[in-house]
Amino acid sequence: MKTRIPLFALIVISFQAFSQHTLRKEINFPDIEGYHTLKCDFHTHTVFSDGKVWPTVRVDDAWRMGLDAISITDHIEYQPHKDYIPTNHDAGYEIALPHSHETNLILIKGSEITRHMPPGHLNGIFITDSKKLETEAVRKYWETGETDTVRDALDYMKPIEEANRQGGFVFWNHPGWASQAPNGIKMYDVHKDLIKKGLLKGVEVVNWDYWYPEALDWCIEYNLTVMSNSDVHEPSGTFLEMADNTHMPVTLVFAKERTEAAIKEALLAGRTAAWFEDKIIGKEEFVDPLVKACIKVNKPHYVSENGTKYVLVENLSSCDFTLVNDQQTLHLKGDNSVLLTYGKDESEKKFTAKNVFITSDKNLDVVLRY
Ligand SMILES: [Zn+2]
Ligand SMILES: [Zn+2]
Repeated sequence: MKTRIPLFALIVISFQAFSQHTLRKEINFPDIEGYHTLKCDFHTHTVFSDGKVWPTVRVDDAWRMGLDAISITDHIEYQPHKDYIPTNHDAGYEIALPHSHETNLILIKGSEITRHMPPGHLNGIFITDSKKLETEAVRKYWETGETDTVRDALDYMKPIEEANRQGGFVFWNHPGWASQAPNGIKMYDVHKDLIKKGLLKGVEVVNWDYWYPEALDWCIEYNLTVMSNSDVHEPSGTFLEMADNTHMPVTLVFAKERTEAAIKEALLAGRTAAWFEDKIIGKEEFVDPLVKACIKVNKPHYVSENGTKYVLVENLSSCDFTLVNDQQTLHLKGDNSVLLTYGKDESEKKFTAKNVFITSDKNLDVVLRY
């Protein structure tokens, strides 16, 4: 006799398999006035270029790491697995998309345009057709093996223009990567030209386990968007061990709503900040309201006979803050609180947040006022 398993039972079984064995570590950053604070990583790789994981693993990892949105940005021009895995520039997105729906992760289509410096490596995200970023020179390179015609070929404008034509947001990756900047980080005329033409709109201030203070200053000078991405090629757990960190680099995006369109609007408007190790890095106009939202100073809950006021200061974020002034250093650990005392006539304390960078060499001033 045949036993039929009802369809709903299969659905329940598969749902439980996911919900019981997968834990998400939430990243806490409060919203700021008028905007949701979204946690994003706009630079990741899969086996469809030089990454080590299948695209659905990228989605699982991002979900477990507490992210809202990712982009899979495989190299167009670097295909080291092509003898085993066919070159398909759209595959990463297509394979990962159904699982992104299941996990409520926003998956943004992207690719990494890969050239020697300048311009180096650039990501195009919010594009619609990755295939079209592959140029004739690249195809010739694969067919003939003639190196350095391609990677050196001055055809970098074609994919950059194409990505922009598709409505993409193009940013410069790892500008200080030692392989491409052996004499130190610098912006070339090529980049200035791309910025002037409106074809390059952001730069990675953080990539993997590096941050580039100079790039933050460029963001301010050239009105570029601050990007902070993992460029992860491995499973995330391996990455974290290699980078000796507890979280991935995150681009905090201040978006009007939790949608792909709103993220794009925010990136075009430059409303981002970087969360890297225990640092928050970005333009003061966005970092200042973020830090104000992260550190909540309560009203005094007790006043002693001599007038000393006892105040609970809460860190509502996952980021550790180090606040310093002449009198004290305050370590405000992520998701923790501290008890401060204020003198009889004291209602505020001024600090400098040593872990918050608003230029390459300037930290944010913070006032704890109840
Ligand atoms: Zn790269
Ligand atoms: Zn990359």
